[in-house]
Amino acid sequence: VPDHQKTLEQLKSEWEDCEKCELGVRRKQEGGAFVFGEGQPGGIMFIGEGPGRVEEEFGRPFIGDSGDLLRNAVMKLGLSHYYITNIVSCRSCSQAYDSEGQPRFRKNKRTGLNVPIIKDEPPSPLFIAACLPRLYEEVYLVDPVLIVALGGEAAKTLSTERMGGITAERGNTRPMDIPGVFHTAKLTPKKRVWRRKQKGEYVTPTEENRVSYLMLPTFHPAYVLRRFADRSPGNPLEMYLKDMKLAAEIYDRYMLEAFGTHPAERNLSYEDVMEDSNATV
Ligand code: SF4
Repeated sequence: VPDHQKTLEQLKSEWEDCEKCELGVRRKQEGGAFVFGEGQPGGIMFIGEGPGRVEEEFGRPFIGDSGDLLRNAVMKLGLSHYYITNIVSCRSCSQAYDSEGQPRFRKNKRTGLNVPIIKDEPPSPLFIAACLPRLYEEVYLVDPVLIVALGGEAAKTLSTERMGGITAERGNTRPMDIPGVFHTAKLTPKKRVWRRKQKGEYVTPTEENRVSYLMLPTFHPAYVLRRFADRSPGNPLEMYLKDMKLAAEIYDRYMLEAFGTHPAERNLSYEDVMEDSNATV
């Protein structure tokens, strides 16, 4: 259960030595970094699946090519109030093998030595379950206006309702509930009373209170990059940009209703995200 008095820095220091699942054990053996979220609380929170090779090297979320695509879109939309994190904080990967079951190697350009090829893979449900308390607490402390789930795995993990494939579900907001701080008193179903006698003592049954957030699923930027050359109607990049604009609109609507802040002019085009990006068509 999250502690409402904790800070994000405290939460990070509680988890940065974590070995609750195998991903943390591997991280320590390989000298990789624990990747915690970064950004400003209270705005839009982007949640991806897990760190990749570059993120693990630098200890920051979304800083590789797909990170450029995300950060470019956010910057071009003029959003300064955002936070980025992942479902799991340690890299999920394994040794790559060829069709004959032999380990694959590549030559290190600097040293000339053959090094094993390591490929990223989706974190298993076991690893996700181990890291969820950290994520829930991070969401609770960031307290975002909107959560954008990047990719099908993140969306399925975060959605309170059952979800289909990301292609069908993206662009539609849905609820995401996380455990809250307080326990609320529960009415007993039959007599509708708060307190009941248990072993001679009066007790007040309670239930965990939940905090509900709005979640918008969209494609993972890495998938959008893989399909970057696709310019057919409804292509992944077009849909991704549409979702990013929708996220900004939801945020603007909230700021207008809650604080009377008038929305900024926000435009986002193909050219915008391709600028400063390593992606090529
Ligand atoms: S992925 Fe999460 S639960 Fe697993 S070791 Fe890393 S921080 Fe701990």
